[in-house]
Amino acid sequence: MDNNGQSSLSKESTDRPSLVSEDGKNIKSVLCQRCGSKVLCPGMAVFAEKELFLPSMRKKNTVGTSDGSVDGDTLTAHWVVDDIYTFENVGFTNNVGRIKYLICADCEIGPIGWHCLDDKKSFYVAVERVDHA
Ligand code: ZN
Repeated sequence: MDNNGQSSLSKESTDRPSLVSEDGKNIKSVLCQRCGSKVLCPGMAVFAEKELFLPSMRKKNTVGTSDGSVDGDTLTAHWVVDDIYTFENVGFTNNVGRIKYLICADCEIGPIGWHCLDDKKSFYVAVERVDHA
């Protein structure tokens, strides 16, 4: 019936203290919600709040197709890293304007994150779109 994976679980900021260390880093590993592929190791990313629009999660070949009507969410909680080599595994979509979206390197689900070509030192991974373990 409802097969597009949308869940309205109330993942509010309530579990954030268990994810963010005192110095603002990720306490737990960041994993793909779908296949469990490791995206970031503990302590490699910094928590940051920034309003970013990410299209709804789907397979790679339909991410960012600009047909004018893009479903998605404005997300504010992100893990930020300043170097692509910090990632254990990550993939990217093709550019959408100046934006690249981050996707899972293994199963290609995404977008799980956001990167702008104008800021090569900021890679955002949406906290709500990844698992933590
Ligand atoms: Zn995956």
